[in-house]
Amino acid sequence: MRIAVLALQGAFIEHEHALNDVGAECFEIRELSDLKKDFDGLVLPGGESTVQGKLLNDLGLMKPLYERIKAGMPVLATCAGLILLASELENDSARYFGTLPVTVRRNAYGRQLGSFSTVDNYDGIGRIPMTFIRAPVIVGVSPEVKVCAKVDDRIVGVEYQNQIALAFHPELDQDRSIHKRFVSLV
Ligand code: GLN
Repeated sequence: MRIAVLALQGAFIEHEHALNDVGAECFEIRELSDLKKDFDGLVLPGGESTVQGKLLNDLGLMKPLYERIKAGMPVLATCAGLILLASELENDSARYFGTLPVTVRRNAYGRQLGSFSTVDNYDGIGRIPMTFIRAPVIVGVSPEVKVCAKVDDRIVGVEYQNQIALAFHPELDQDRSIHKRFVSLV
């Protein structure tokens, strides 16, 4: 089993460490030729969605990755990655992969609460640390989307078919249960 980690910008190294910790082999996608390698799952890391979206388009990666996600390849998306998957952004006219039927509000916690950590429940796992950095929240979900985590009544984690999408950054904490869950999905 091999996992591809989108490594254009943001917190991708931390995902690689987490995947290695749970025994998964991984490699980085930086350009189109990297897609020649075989892989069974994809990680979309946090960072800046506008920058990642532009680079995905400029490098010709958007369409081939979209097709793999649509075809059912398991994806773990965190923070900016969630924004890339969302079918709708409440406060932005952009749309990227659009494969996850949810509405997302970017930078939902404002400047004061830009970053914070908490511990809360993730459905099927239990209580896990959750670190938020200029995080989005999910403000609307289609009925088929499973809500897996809420913090203060705001949706911060969902699963839908092959996609796990989180507003927080599990790769920045030592708890590996989200990466284990993703690898078991793969
Ligand atoms: N604020 C970023 C964005 O809108 C996401 C932040 C993150 O990935 N930590 O793209």
